[in-house]
Amino acid sequence: MIFKEHVRWEFLKPQEFLARQRQRPIVYLPMGLCEPHGHIAPFGLDTIKADWLCDQAADRFGGVVAPTMAYHTHETGYHAPWLEEVMGGVNPRLAALPPHLLLETLLYQFRAFRNAGFQAVVVVSGHHGSQDDLRMTAEAFAEAFPIQHFVRTDPELVTGKFVGDHAGRYELSQLLAIRPDLVALDRAECVDTHPLGRFAQNPDVEEATAEEGRCILDTSLDTLRAATDAFRFTEETPDFIPMEATAGVWEGIDRRRAQWKTNNP
Ligand SMILES: [Zn+2]
Repeated sequence: MIFKEHVRWEFLKPQEFLARQRQRPIVYLPMGLCEPHGHIAPFGLDTIKADWLCDQAADRFGGVVAPTMAYHTHETGYHAPWLEEVMGGVNPRLAALPPHLLLETLLYQFRAFRNAGFQAVVVVSGHHGSQDDLRMTAEAFAEAFPIQHFVRTDPELVTGKFVGDHAGRYELSQLLAIRPDLVALDRAECVDTHPLGRFAQNPDVEEATAEEGRCILDTSLDTLRAATDAFRFTEETPDFIPMEATAGVWEGIDRRRAQWKTNNP
């Protein structure tokens, strides 16, 4: 991945970090994971989309991109039957975490963002399905320690205009626009003969075009622009949140485990 290094927390030195933050105290968290995306695309497609959208948003609308969260929920809850359906018995070679680890990590990521001086958090997940629980975690944190937040998966950024999919026309159009060198559409027919079978590839993948990908990405960025425009910033410096205080917020979320969408089929 070629990052826009001038917006990336891990590539910035203190002076440039503080300058960007003073200009607009927004932090973006890209979320994705490695999971099968057919024969035509790399495992990390979800991460690649999220990284690209966050880099572009920070570059255009201001703010800093936090280190990418490249492990995500899978194998549990509703993901389990989906995996069975699109993979059969094939080893999916994916980078999954159980929901409690992902959500607790996200909670501490919010703590880190607020303690670092950010006033608004934008989470863009390239992996769809666990967004309700991501938002529930963000809301629980913000209730205890106020911070503005906008948490969406990439198909949610284009609702009503495009329909998301998995390793099909929608996702591959985006990859053709972002990194055409990573796409191998000539392998689309592999599903019939390859020992891995379909490997979660959508049958409409050959309809993907870079042009449609650019439309999807532009529409996504319009949504992110509107979200960041709605944030309001103050001159106040909030108190530092200790680890122990965050643990209390987690206990509240953990008590409602039975209601987590990620735990239910
Ligand atoms: Zn995907």
